[in-house]
Amino acid sequence: MKGPAAEAATAFRLDGSVLSVEPYGQGHIHHTFRVATAKRRYLLQRLNTTVFPDPRRVMENVARVLDHLRAKLEAKGVADLDRRVLQLMPTQSGEAFWRSPDDHWWRCYLFIEPSRSLERPETRHQAFEAGRAFGAFQTLLEDLPGPTLQPTLPGFHDAPLRLTHFEKALQDDPLGRASQAMTEIAWALQQRSRADLFAGFLRDGTMAPILTHNDTKLNNLLFDERGEEALCVLDLDTVMPGLPLYDFGDLARSACNRAAEDGPADVDAALFLCLAEGFQAGRPWSEVERDHAVEATQTMAYTLGLRFLTDFLEGDSYFRIHRPDHNLHRARGQFALVEALESRKAELKQALAKPA
Ligand code: ATP
Ligand code: MG
Repeated sequence: MKGPAAEAATAFRLDGSVLSVEPYGQGHIHHTFRVATAKRRYLLQRLNTTVFPDPRRVMENVARVLDHLRAKLEAKGVADLDRRVLQLMPTQSGEAFWRSPDDHWWRCYLFIEPSRSLERPETRHQAFEAGRAFGAFQTLLEDLPGPTLQPTLPGFHDAPLRLTHFEKALQDDPLGRASQAMTEIAWALQQRSRADLFAGFLRDGTMAPILTHNDTKLNNLLFDERGEEALCVLDLDTVMPGLPLYDFGDLARSACNRAAEDGPADVDAALFLCLAEGFQAGRPWSEVERDHAVEATQTMAYTLGLRFLTDFLEGDSYFRIHRPDHNLHRARGQFALVEALESRKAELKQALAKPA
């Protein structure tokens, strides 16, 4: 075996010699490979240092989070720890990451198996489980010892900042594409007050940041092989201080919409409510959080839509596209979700307000 990934695999202290290294999964950010020895399998990743310009901070955060999660689950007597929490493999010299001679950053986890990864909830129970796992993740991190984690992507979920970037891209219109997106642009500007709702809650102390996951897509969870129980939270690169309700909003945004990412929205209200019920089983909500779970989902959809539209105007440099107007269509899909949630808001809020 030859190549950078094979070379990287041998830099880690694995159980047995490396037999195969192959590209793995659907991840958008890092380069991911599955490594096999005669004894077991591993998940090897080359970090994307364009997205994460401070990989040392990422790895410090990830290592601290994993140590803490493992200790907490162990203290609770949870069985099967190797499938419940990611485990970093040390390099031959005992470090959590390996820097290649051409300065790429690599890390290696135990491959969690048997397990299943889901793109969409197939059942209400899975939706409940997904909510529970991400809610519980926040609860487990509440007493992380030491100083709080430093942001790895400052401003990642800062809605007012995303709006400012969008307005700048619109003003510059570097490729003259604004004329193709007049409907979406007009809608985004007309809805601009959406960007300030939670920022306002943070300013006036109605809500406070805690350590959150910040990328709570369904495929950042592994389920057991039957797809019944959420086993393990993955993708810890963006764990940092954030609004707890945004983790719910991002999960619900991605999991309660039965439509394709770039198609018309189709909200499954029952799934939304199962996600919310599960989330609260993992970390109970305050009254003000419960009252704003729908708005948090809309804010996440609105800001992601703004990011797609900004990228469309700027020439598709951040989100990989599969056809020319992909980012414009993606923006349209997120904005349609905001509207679909608006039309179901009263019904969803009423159901959320009922005691379980
Ligand atoms: P994205 O940002 O698009 O979510 P990414 O590039 O950050 O992806 P990950 O989410 O870390 O990459 O991993 C990609 C996929 O690899 C996951 O969705 C999951 O299916 C699988 N995966 C990651 N870690 C493990 C593991 N330790 N064991 C088994 N599968 C894993
Ligand atoms: Mg992922």
